[in-house]
Amino acid sequence: MLNDPRSHGLWEKTAPPPPLTRPLDGDVLADVVVVGGGYTGLSSALHLAEAGIKVVLLEANEIGFGGAGRNVGLINAGMWVMPEDLPGVLGPVYGERLLELLGEAPKLVMALIEKHRIACELERNGTLHCAVGPEGLKEIEERARQWGKRGAPVIVLDADETARRVGSSAYAGALLDMRAGTLQPLAYVRGLAHAGSKAGVVIHTGSRVTATEKNGGRWIVRTAGGNVSADWIIVATDAYSTGHWEQVRNEQVHLPYFNFATVPLGDHLRKSVLPGREGAWDTKDILSSFRMDQAGRLVFGSVGALRNTGLAIHKNWARRSLRKLFPQLGDIAFESEWYGKIGMTDNALPRFHRFAPNVVGFSGYNGRGIAPGTVFGKILSDHILGRVFEADLPLPLTDPSEPGFRALKEMWYEAGAQAAHFVGARR
Ligand SMILES: Cc1cc2nc3c(=O)[nH]c(=O)nc-3n(C[C@H](O)[C@H](O)[C@H](O)COP(=O)(O)OP(=O)(O)OC[C@H]3O[C@@H](n4cnc5c(N)ncnc54)[C@H](O)[C@@H]3O)c2cc1C
Repeated sequence: MLNDPRSHGLWEKTAPPPPLTRPLDGDVLADVVVVGGGYTGLSSALHLAEAGIKVVLLEANEIGFGGAGRNVGLINAGMWVMPEDLPGVLGPVYGERLLELLGEAPKLVMALIEKHRIACELERNGTLHCAVGPEGLKEIEERARQWGKRGAPVIVLDADETARRVGSSAYAGALLDMRAGTLQPLAYVRGLAHAGSKAGVVIHTGSRVTATEKNGGRWIVRTAGGNVSADWIIVATDAYSTGHWEQVRNEQVHLPYFNFATVPLGDHLRKSVLPGREGAWDTKDILSSFRMDQAGRLVFGSVGALRNTGLAIHKNWARRSLRKLFPQLGDIAFESEWYGKIGMTDNALPRFHRFAPNVVGFSGYNGRGIAPGTVFGKILSDHILGRVFEADLPLPLTDPSEPGFRALKEMWYEAGAQAAHFVGARR
């Protein structure tokens, strides 16, 4: 995308094309304007259009330009926060509501993929949260206990079974979550765009929203090429927010995250590395993630930005780490590399904002936006359709607020990841 091989990497090479779209040109009328062509925007637009609502979606760049086209593709159930901590952070009502909704969220993703026949390499084989040492094991055992109390299909695998499933003896155990899975993230969001177009959503790419104003009880949403007049605006711009809703981006601390994809593994290696194709990540503070794509490429990622000195440092570290984790791979070549910005909030939970009357949005998924973005998009649609009142949403209404020392924290994440990987590559 934008001729940058490090923006969307492997996903750009292997995703089916998006629907044909053009920038907005002239003035149009709609019931709802959706701003942002990621999971949140496209899920809300699709569900609204299916209910007979006239929707125009405005995307500043291309479909999937933001996190949706750059991520690891893990369809997670729940957030990073421990299940039993959620009611403490959000209060019992919102805490339980959010837990239940996010625990079930992968089901909606999988149902949409099936319903709209989206070709996006869906794997329903669960995810493995791999324990590093006794501390990591304690963490996943506690997570399993808390989810288990809620009837979730999660179990702790011992070190031998983990080694068999991962293809590495590096871990003390793993939490297998059978609600979760993996997909090709850009293919999924492009598939949602095709489904939305078929349902009647009018999508304009290359159409950055620069301003909004009220005119005779309706909203006028402005872009360089034209304006949309509508009753409602959905703001679905999240970490890649530019232009009119800078406060969405400013509420988050950006954590850079990169991925390298190897060339496709041969048959014998595919039988040894993640033979069950679960998505995986570990319990380290600076975590690593790994998963297979459909063609048998291993996608390996961690915290850091592939720019300036970071490119060489993270690449060396990734080579060295892969050799240690999976010695059977030898000196396997990388075929693609890319990175993106994960939007972190101060309590690691997403946000619901009403920016003005009839202007609403969810954001701040903390690296877990595939299932939550899809499900929150549907909830925004239900809210506008009058099926869910504001008080019944899964998150309380909050005002965007900027965390202290945001710029410093972002520099620290980028530089800290480089320092850790520089040292790690030498051990
Ligand atoms: C490297 C990386 C790895 C990740 N791994 C995972 C993972 O494995 N699993 C998971 O669940 N989540 C993961 N995430 C998080 C996930 O990708 C995001 O949470 C998700 O993409 C958020 O979806 P969204 O639709 O809200 O926003 P986005 O997908 O970011 O889409 C927002 C869109 O809004 C557009 N936009 C911004 N401003 C304007 C404007 N003014 N006018 C018009 N359009 C505008 C942008 O161009 C962008 O396309 C990861 C993220 C990154 C970056």
